[in-house]
Amino acid sequence: MAVTQAGCDLTYCRMRGIVSVLAAFIKERKMGLNDFIQKLASTPHICQHVEVNNFLKIDQNQEVDQEALPDPMLRHSRTSLAEDTTIKPCDFDYLKIIGKGSFGKVLLARHKESSNYYAVKVLQKRIVLKKKEQKHIMAERSVLMKNVKHPFLVGLHFSFQTADKLYFVLDYVNGGELFYHLQRERVFLEPRARFYAAEIASALGYLHALHIVYRDLKPENILLDSEGHIVLTDFGLCKEGLESNGTTSTFCGTPEYLAPEVLQKQAYDRTVDWWCLGSVLYEMLYGLPPFYSRNTAEMYDNILHKAPVLKPNVSNSGRELLEGLLQKERCQRLGHKDDFLELRYHSFFSPINWDDLMAKKVTPPFVPSVTGPTDLRHFDPEFTHLPVSSSLCSDTMHMTSSLKEAAGAFPGFSYGPPEEHTFQHSEFI
Ligand code: AMP
Repeated sequence: MAVTQAGCDLTYCRMRGIVSVLAAFIKERKMGLNDFIQKLASTPHICQHVEVNNFLKIDQNQEVDQEALPDPMLRHSRTSLAEDTTIKPCDFDYLKIIGKGSFGKVLLARHKESSNYYAVKVLQKRIVLKKKEQKHIMAERSVLMKNVKHPFLVGLHFSFQTADKLYFVLDYVNGGELFYHLQRERVFLEPRARFYAAEIASALGYLHALHIVYRDLKPENILLDSEGHIVLTDFGLCKEGLESNGTTSTFCGTPEYLAPEVLQKQAYDRTVDWWCLGSVLYEMLYGLPPFYSRNTAEMYDNILHKAPVLKPNVSNSGRELLEGLLQKERCQRLGHKDDFLELRYHSFFSPINWDDLMAKKVTPPFVPSVTGPTDLRHFDPEFTHLPVSSSLCSDTMHMTSSLKEAAGAFPGFSYGPPEEHTFQHSEFI
């Protein structure tokens, strides 16, 4: 009896093994196909090809019972591919302005049908075009939709466009900017700074594994969710397609956190993100950015030539980590060789259980007090007190010539996500 039982167990285990291998295989093929279709759909001249067109129409013939899908947002997401997404501005009630970026606003919005809350980022095409930033915006969209799914990265639900505006429908994150809390407390104790740095590092490591460099880690892009976990937003400056030893040289970033190689317009690579993490960690522990000066020229000079001041009120391992991350020479910087792994195994992070961290099983050291989605106490009243424009819900009727140009300048921007791609942390750590 016992032998038969063991035999059964073995067969069952084997079956489970085979099933999970097959499931992983199918999932990977599905993701690959989806990526391929997204690429096709966002390349107008390829789309016009008869065979490609027929191929893309396959979806329309499928009899998906849309009404049977539980979540209205999900219903739309299944129907939409590229430009024919059915989501439109008027599907949302725009409640408050919660932030401003260089191209437009971020609003708290409620999807009328599902009553779910989202952060909707609305960009003026005119401004994007004027600043010649289409590439960055399309990069943000493509990074967000590239099956990028990670517990500490903001999720994109949809993107769509009207003649004059671009819309990103994002997870709504309402614990406030990390540095809003830092400013109130001046510095964080080491365990708290360690927790945030670890969550940020794991998100950066994940992006690097996808050959994406974040590039623009700065205070206003690091948010806390209502439980106190990190959420990185704003992928506008992300650089896609950098292999592990790939470099690029566009000048971007925020002065305080600019790495020396970026400042000098030299080639840079993914280690630029580890420099930025060093700057963020330094500010959390010491209360100011590492090379800070009120005088911008002096600050640039400090970044290029001065060693960071590492006062002994931070532990040895903390100072050693900062020294490694803030190496001016990127080839000597921590993370240059094995990227995230070099941080993961650094003694500063030895109290961190990375598996628990990724599974959000580590209790955050601080929980932002919010009563619900409409509690905006962690957002700057400078924004929340602004009136919400009624034009958000109406497409512009009068087509001027510049508007016509803007209208057609973002082919393939609109997006409804593919079926859930469940993130597995074992994929990169
Ligand atoms: P951005 O244009 O992405 O830099 O966003 C400008 C500001 O809007 C940020 O600094 C945040 O304060 C806020 N914000 C951006 N995305 C979100 C989001 N998903 N949830 C809540 N607030 C956000």
